[in-house]
Amino acid sequence: MLHLLDQTPEQLDAWLAERQVPKYRARQVRRWLFGDTVDGFDRMTDLSKPLRSQLAEEFSLWTTEVAAHRKSADGTEKLLLQLADGQRVECVLLRDDKEHHTVCLSTQVGCAMGCAFCASGLDGVVRNLTTGEIVEQMLRLKRLLPSGERLSHIVVMGMGEPLANLDRLLPALEVAGQPDGLGISARRITISTVGLPKGIRRLADVDCQYHLAVSLHAPNDELRNRLVPANRKTGIAAVLEAADYYFEKTGRRVMFEYVLLAGVNDQPEHARELVALLHGRPALVNLIPYNPVAGLPFHTPKSAATARFAEVLEHGGLSVAIRYRKGDRIDAACGQLRRVAANSVSPSSEK
Ligand code: SAH
Repeated sequence: MLHLLDQTPEQLDAWLAERQVPKYRARQVRRWLFGDTVDGFDRMTDLSKPLRSQLAEEFSLWTTEVAAHRKSADGTEKLLLQLADGQRVECVLLRDDKEHHTVCLSTQVGCAMGCAFCASGLDGVVRNLTTGEIVEQMLRLKRLLPSGERLSHIVVMGMGEPLANLDRLLPALEVAGQPDGLGISARRITISTVGLPKGIRRLADVDCQYHLAVSLHAPNDELRNRLVPANRKTGIAAVLEAADYYFEKTGRRVMFEYVLLAGVNDQPEHARELVALLHGRPALVNLIPYNPVAGLPFHTPKSAATARFAEVLEHGGLSVAIRYRKGDRIDAACGQLRRVAANSVSPSSEK
């Protein structure tokens, strides 16, 4: 069986054309997929019965099941999705207000990057997600909204390294962008990478307006090699060169993420070194206080230390944002719910 959400609009059009189905039917199918997102082909009531059964014979509509669903008081909701092969990935819906609904998507089962403080990579990478599995996360999360409310933003900051799975991610984001898809323009989509220079350049050459976030986490190679092992192959200089290229090609200011780990990379001298490193770049630094992962030896800095770090950066002329933490109680940091669920007998829903 093929996954219907894995088909590009062109493939679906071609499939229908081969069966002499008029073109406007494709629009109807897409409306059932991305508008109301029905549960089964039999619910696509304005399609003929034979077409519905032809579709059902060839395609599956949903390939995931919700293995756990958690909600936190601030409106953040997290789904643990079980894929057809039994693997599990997480995705999150964040609500800022009625107009701002952001989804956070995973691109791989696990992660090969092995960042020292991250839950997703503790067991390595299992496989890439398919385009359909990435689109399905968007639709599962969209269905959590009251009807009439739309998704407005996408952040690709869930499990996995997005630039290691660009071939599947890009078509999924294209579907998200189409007016008869989800209508989320590239400018409202942020792709976060550990910093793979080749991948960054490739994304720049796609020539879309995606917002790029680079997970820097350290101001020098010695420290970054320890926290972000992928750095050992590349080095910070090559990552920054690729980020500069991204800015030149797209005109979009690159965001640098920096997870603050108490006593490890959060000292004023680290901040000063970061100022020197990013000097002259139209960069935005996003400080992320460490979200504790069970079994890892790191600690969240006190808010005074975070504020002091931010101050040094600002004095050095950098734009700084401190990432407001959402959904802590529901293990909303990447990879955490999957681990909790894997270690407990039955993942339960929490209100
Ligand atoms: N592979 C991509 C996406 C990872 S998740 C990347 O490396 O950017 C998005 C961000 O969350 C990354 O900056 C990642 O380093 C950060 N992150 C991972 N674990 C974290 C934790 N325990 N606390 C805070 N941030 C974390």
